[in-house]
Amino acid sequence: MDLSFTPEQEAFRRRVRTWIKANLPARERDAQPLDAADPKRLRVLKDWQRKLYDAGYVGMGWPKEFGGQGADVVQQTIVSEELVVARAPGLIGMMGILMVGPTLIQHGTDEQRRRHLPKILTAEEIWCQGYSEPGSGSDLASLKTRADLVGDEFVINGQKVWTSNAQFADWMFCLVRTDPTAPKHRGISYVLIDMRSPGISVRPLIQMTGDAGFNEVFFENVRVPRHNLVGELNQGWLVANATLAHERNMLGMTTRTQQMFNSLLRLAQSCQRGGRPAADDPVMRQKLADLMIRVEAMKYHSFRQLTDAIKKRSPGIGASVNKLVSTELNHDIAATALEVMGSYGTLARTSRHVLNRGTWPFEFMFTLGLVIGGGTSQIQKNIISERGLGMPRMG
Ligand SMILES: Cc1cc2nc3c(=O)[nH]c(=O)nc-3n(C[C@H](O)[C@H](O)[C@H](O)COP(=O)(O)OP(=O)(O)OC[C@H]3O[C@@H](n4cnc5c(N)ncnc54)[C@H](O)[C@@H]3O)c2cc1C
Repeated sequence: MDLSFTPEQEAFRRRVRTWIKANLPARERDAQPLDAADPKRLRVLKDWQRKLYDAGYVGMGWPKEFGGQGADVVQQTIVSEELVVARAPGLIGMMGILMVGPTLIQHGTDEQRRRHLPKILTAEEIWCQGYSEPGSGSDLASLKTRADLVGDEFVINGQKVWTSNAQFADWMFCLVRTDPTAPKHRGISYVLIDMRSPGISVRPLIQMTGDAGFNEVFFENVRVPRHNLVGELNQGWLVANATLAHERNMLGMTTRTQQMFNSLLRLAQSCQRGGRPAADDPVMRQKLADLMIRVEAMKYHSFRQLTDAIKKRSPGIGASVNKLVSTELNHDIAATALEVMGSYGTLARTSRHVLNRGTWPFEFMFTLGLVIGGGTSQIQKNIISERGLGMPRMG
């Protein structure tokens, strides 16, 4: 196994690093992820994505005919890594780029691709994901939001919940029930909804971080043109699964976990515990070593996934393993950071005594959400055991 990059790939990495250094303003490094609801901040994040797109670093893996670069998977990985290493803000249009965009490339009509793909890449239009409903999270296929076909329009009634970014999104890719008499997986359709349609109301939900990252979305007789259907009528489950596979890849950002662990090491060297650096405390050293072993194992697993992608082999359950391991590890790293900080770890971002701008308590709360979002750890374990290890289905 050769884990090194070729001289050409190393040269590409240097070019990307130089570009980021020249173009990412210092104040944007380490900006916390959920403050995009502020219109000024939203503008900054949209401009950042646009700049990256103009440089050829957004949608790199998309075919050229759809505005991408047709770049290989190693180049895409290098760009993602360099953005994380530079502590650049996450892309505001991530759900468009990694979820609905690839889904439209795979299942959309020419008209849908022409209308939506360019604005996804440039962040002119932001997307949100309307899957979860009250009572339909892990058991997504039980969703009840109704879409009745009346002439050339769907008339939509129902409610979505936990919809990230809905408060400023322009469009939603949404699962709706179009045949209530069919078995639950076969009566669902995938539609694109203009968030400015009459009859939609959005109510922000405040999370424990204090931010309103996600929302409830209500639909009351919302009219959606039939040509906004993606794939066949009642075949939305197939289309949705394509999107979910992209989401699990998106969440498994292993480089970010490595960065978090490195920050934890720096913290443990700078914070005192019992009159000496926390990193010298034998119990803490054991914890740090345990986390480091998990980070290394995750890193080599992600190399295996990269190899699969280069060789165009199906990722199988790899994306689920990645999602499970990296999100739980992020949360455990943040929990250890709070332990290192002692009572400082309990301070809110607004306190004048707060350490590291309150990043760690924020991360501790924020990363718990990532363990749940995109399919909980328990659901990932079910997928791994049933589809990967061939174990019998529960229940
Ligand atoms: C930060 C964040 C962002 C999100 N963003 C979005 C979004 O943009 N769009 C969207 O549609 N949704 C979003 N979600 C919702 C997310 O997809 C759901 O929260 C998730 O799928 C779990 O569903 P639930 O909350 O209804 O929990 P439930 O499904 O009610 O689960 C409750 C508990 O039971 C366990 N459980 C349930 N079924 C099983 C089973 N079969 N076997 C073992 N254990 C089980 C779960 O693991 C969990 O611990 C987001 C969630 C979070 C936290």
